[in-house]
Amino acid sequence: MNSGQETHFGFQTVKSDQKEGLVRGVFDSVAQRYDIMNDVMSVGIHRVWKNSLIDQLNPRPGMKLLDVAGGTGDIAFRFLNKLRSENDPINQGQVKICDINPSMLQVGKDRALDQGYLKEISWICGDAEKLPIEDQSVDAYTIAFGIRNVTNIYNAIKEAYRVLRPGGHFLCLEFSHIPQKDIAKFYDWYLFNIIPHMGEIITNDRESYKYLVESIRNFPTQEKFKGMIKDAGFKRVTYRNLSGGIVATHSGRRI
Ligand code: SAM
Repeated sequence: MNSGQETHFGFQTVKSDQKEGLVRGVFDSVAQRYDIMNDVMSVGIHRVWKNSLIDQLNPRPGMKLLDVAGGTGDIAFRFLNKLRSENDPINQGQVKICDINPSMLQVGKDRALDQGYLKEISWICGDAEKLPIEDQSVDAYTIAFGIRNVTNIYNAIKEAYRVLRPGGHFLCLEFSHIPQKDIAKFYDWYLFNIIPHMGEIITNDRESYKYLVESIRNFPTQEKFKGMIKDAGFKRVTYRNLSGGIVATHSGRRI
């Protein structure tokens, strides 16, 4: 990455080559309390959003999933739980979790041990923009609440395209934009006034949650993000608003 280029880190403009380190600092700081903070901030609704992503993915026996920015494993566990509940254990899927942050991965590994998922998951420390994964090697690619943290979103989508086999499914769950103006205004008030305060109480880190809120606001609209996915080569690109557009799932196929 050219160090002269600039990007956003929340509402700050920073050099592109600084962003990765800044984002790493955020997740190093919150890793241990990340899961509890998710439940508190969203009053548990992040679970419903993640379940909805898994429903759209429609896990099938033997499926190979790459979950990027997989953090503490929420998407991977849901994928495997669904297969475990519906199928013979022999035919379970395989998940690669790739995340840039070793502290988040460590929390995920501890959870995998508790849930009995040692064989089914491999843990990879790597960057969504330069995935250490072979071309056309996975059936599905998911990224949940991760893509707004990468330095160059378009590079990450192109990497998703590269690693998916033809017919493979790209699915992204991300904070988005509420079209209804009055609700959007109230939601903004909640984001900017309540979330950093909660972050301070629960993780003792107001700044990381201020970044989180600002990064939500900076993320492209549903239509713009849809255009980026199409530009990267995906077909049948659609999105679905959840909770009135607080978040959206974006889907595309590599044909
Ligand atoms: N997917 C998980 C979930 O939904 O609970 C974790 C989401 S957490 C908000 C964002 C994750 O993105 C963090 O674990 C962070 O380390 C990871 N991340 C940030 N930048 C990344 C990058 N360039 N490549 C891979 N992972 C990245």
